[in-house]
Amino acid sequence: MDCSDLARIWNAVYRNLQYELGSPIVNSWISPLVVDKFYSGVLYIRAPSMFLRDWVVNNYQDTILRFCQKECKEIKSLEIFVSLLKTNMVEAQEKSDERVSLPMAKSEDLLKKTEDVIGVPLDPKFTFENFVVGKPNEFAYAVALRIAESEVVAFNPLFLYGAVGLGKTHLMHAIAWNIKTRSPKRNVAYMSAEKFMYHFIKSVRYKDTMAFKEQFRAVDVLMIDDIQFICGKDATQEEFFHTFNTLVDNNHQVVVSADKSPSDLNAMEERLKSRLGWGLVADIHPTNYELRLGILQSKASACAIKIPGKVLEFVAHKITTNIRELEGALNRIVANAVFVGNEITVESARDVLSDLLRTSNRKMTVEDIQKKVAAHYSIKLGDMSSPRRARQVSLPRQVAMYLAKKFTSMSLPEIGRSFGGRDHTTVLHAVKKIEEGMKEGSNLAEDIKLLSDILTM
Ligand code: ADP
Ligand code: MG
Repeated sequence: MDCSDLARIWNAVYRNLQYELGSPIVNSWISPLVVDKFYSGVLYIRAPSMFLRDWVVNNYQDTILRFCQKECKEIKSLEIFVSLLKTNMVEAQEKSDERVSLPMAKSEDLLKKTEDVIGVPLDPKFTFENFVVGKPNEFAYAVALRIAESEVVAFNPLFLYGAVGLGKTHLMHAIAWNIKTRSPKRNVAYMSAEKFMYHFIKSVRYKDTMAFKEQFRAVDVLMIDDIQFICGKDATQEEFFHTFNTLVDNNHQVVVSADKSPSDLNAMEERLKSRLGWGLVADIHPTNYELRLGILQSKASACAIKIPGKVLEFVAHKITTNIRELEGALNRIVANAVFVGNEITVESARDVLSDLLRTSNRKMTVEDIQKKVAAHYSIKLGDMSSPRRARQVSLPRQVAMYLAKKFTSMSLPEIGRSFGGRDHTTVLHAVKKIEEGMKEGSNLAEDIKLLSDILTM
C-alpha cells in the first residue's frame, strides 16, 4: 500500500467517514481538519481550534484512525494538533469539493479486492457503558447483555428490532465488544446484511462458494444487522438460511437485527421468517422524554463546553424522532456555539434547529400540554386528572391548567373537565396562583417559559 499520497488517503478516509458518521457531522467536525504530514508512523492533522481538536479526539479519533489504517497500514497513530495557520473553513470547503468530484471506485474493483477477514470493524463508542438505559430499551439491553455474558447459548437467535436510529447497531456492537474482550479466542463476526450479500455474491462470482461457507461456518457468534435488506433477494436469503441453520444446529450464537418484527418482514421467505422468530425476539420502543434527556445529559457531559440543562430539556422535548437525530441536534448546537461563537441558550438552540422543529409543529391540545408538563415534572400523566392534592402533583396540574388557558381556546369549564372533572373555579384559582407565583421570580417563571417554548415551536 502506498502511504506517500496523503491526499488520496485522506480523500478515502473522508468518504468513509461521510458514510459512517453522516454528512452533518463530517461537515461540522471533519471538514475543518487538514492533513499535515506523515512521519514515522504518525499522521499529523491540523485542527483550527482547541475545542474542535478536543471534540474530534474524544469522539472521532478512533474512527478516523481505523479508516486511515484501512488505506495505509503503516499509520500507527494520529496526532491532531491545533494550528491556526491556513486552516480556515473556506480552505476546508474547497478541499471537500475536490473530494466529492473524485472518481468513485468502480464496483468491479470492489469485488476484486480480496478480504480475508469477514466482519467489519466495530465502533469503539458503541459499548454497553455508553448505552443509556430507559424504559423503551431496557428489555433489549438486558437480553443483549445476557447474550454477551452468557457462557452457554441461552436463546438462539436473538432477534432485535426497532425503528431506525433507536440503538440496534449500538447494542450489537456492544455485544461483540463484550465477547471479544472477555473471550478473545471466540470468533465474532458482525456485519450488515448488505455486506453478507456482498460476500455471498463475490463467492458465487469467483466460484468460491465453498470458502464462503467454511468462513461463515467457522464463526462462533454471527451478527447480521438490518436483515430486512435481504428481503426479496432470494438467492442471498437461501444462503443465509443455510448458514443460519448450520450455526444454530452447532450451537453457535446468531444475533440478527431488523426494522420490523420477523412476522412483518414482507418479501422474506416464510420458513426463514419463522426460523428467525424461534429464539428470543426483543424490540426497542420509540424513546420517551426521560431516555432522551438521559442520553443528552450523557453526551453533553462528554463535551468540552457546557450546555445549560434547560437547553437539554428543550431538545429532549422537541426532538422526538430518534436518537440519531437527537445526537445530530446536539452536535449542531455545539457546532454553532463553537464556529459562530453564539452562547448556548434555548433561543439560540431553537434557531439552530428550526428546520428540524418545523415538522413537529401542529395544533396544540390540552393532552399535549398535560403530557409535556407531566414529563417535565416527572409525574404520571394520570395525575393530571387524579384527585390527589399533594403539592408535588397539584403544582404541575396548576401549571398545565394555566398553559391550557394560555394556549388553547378552551373555556374554564372545559379545561376543568379535562382535568378529571374539576370545577371552573379551580381552574381560575390555578391560573391566578401561577400568575402570582411567576411574579415572585421563582423557578416557576423559568419553568413556564421553558414549557411555553416547548409547546409553541
Ligand atoms: P439503529 O441501528 O437502531 O438505526 P444506532 O444503533 O445506529 O441505531 O443508533 C443511532 C445513534 O444513537 C448511535 O450514535 C448510537 O450510539 C446512539 N444511541 C442509540 N441508543 C442509545 C442509547 N440508549 N444510549 C446512548 N446512545 C444511543
Ligand atoms: Mg443500525
